[in-house]
Amino acid sequence: MDQKKRCKGLMERLRDGETVICAEGYLFVFERRGYLTAGSYVPEVVLEHPELVRQQYEEFVHAGSDVVLAFTYYAHREKMALIGREDDLQRINKHALRMAREVADQTGTLMAGNISNTNLFVDSVPNYREKVWQIFKEQIEWAVEAGADFIVGETFSDFGEALMAVKACKEFAKDIPCVVTMAAQQGQVNGKPTTVDGVDYVDAFNKLAEAGADVVGLNCARGPATMLPVMEEAVKVCKAPLAAVPVMYRTTKENPNFMSSKDPLTGESLFPVNLDCIGCNRQDIHDFGKRVQELGIKYVGLCCGNSAHLTRSLAESLGRKPPASRYSADLNKHWLLGHDDKLPSVGQESKTKYAPKLTKVEK
Ligand SMILES: [Zn+2]
Repeated sequence: MDQKKRCKGLMERLRDGETVICAEGYLFVFERRGYLTAGSYVPEVVLEHPELVRQQYEEFVHAGSDVVLAFTYYAHREKMALIGREDDLQRINKHALRMAREVADQTGTLMAGNISNTNLFVDSVPNYREKVWQIFKEQIEWAVEAGADFIVGETFSDFGEALMAVKACKEFAKDIPCVVTMAAQQGQVNGKPTTVDGVDYVDAFNKLAEAGADVVGLNCARGPATMLPVMEEAVKVCKAPLAAVPVMYRTTKENPNFMSSKDPLTGESLFPVNLDCIGCNRQDIHDFGKRVQELGIKYVGLCCGNSAHLTRSLAESLGRKPPASRYSADLNKHWLLGHDDKLPSVGQESKTKYAPKLTKVEK
């Protein structure tokens, strides 16, 4: 393993009060781009088109991510078996991790290994705990071997599985920090959202932290609008650093999870391939960034539906200027909206003709 001088670690940053941005959402990115099948959602693109994965790592860093999250999400044994590619299990993991380490080293960012829900954490699967444990073990060990700076365990709907993930990180990643986040489904007890196995989220976060998780919180499932209320409760009582990594969709009080999102025009279900019509825009993400900052949530990111322009908006909302900010909107140079001296005079007449339709004119 290359032992080059590494950048400031995750826990040091959090201890110093810095916010850490982690761009996620690779599955949906590659599905949209035509390199990954919706349904099975296995990141075969890592093996078939590694250059695109490397480029996506770089693009997210360019847009402001502090972390290169190795694209091993759903590259686990259960998923690889589902598509008949179990033989490629080790290769896909190592390849995704190696590229992530290289990009992190080249860009001075952190590299994180990635484990997730296994879809096996159900009583009906014989020996399911052993199977889940084995999946965590092998993926964590590959991540450690590849020099991961920390491990992300994510999208757990069951508290029981999230707790196992924390324990597996403690056992197999030793002193490497772990960020463990849950996907908030629709479950409720006494009007409060709970995990699928009935644990109040705030309790779940505290218990995961007690078990050794370094950062706890939510990712995926909910958009900013329905994730923030849960996090607002969490900041009141949780002592561990918190994470908020929403999906980039406008989830609602009626349908807080994107799996139940409906088309506002037709009422049809949108998950998972027709969510575009309720996508968050840059302003939504800017507002989300401002709010998490007010709440003191220090680990933030964007999950399904993410793309570079939204990551840049998040970074800029935190006062950052990532390399992509060089190309942030400069509407003062827009032929119709702008007032730049060098603009050819369009004439007040034509401006008034179009301008009423435009909501905002940058000065
Ligand atoms: Zn997601």
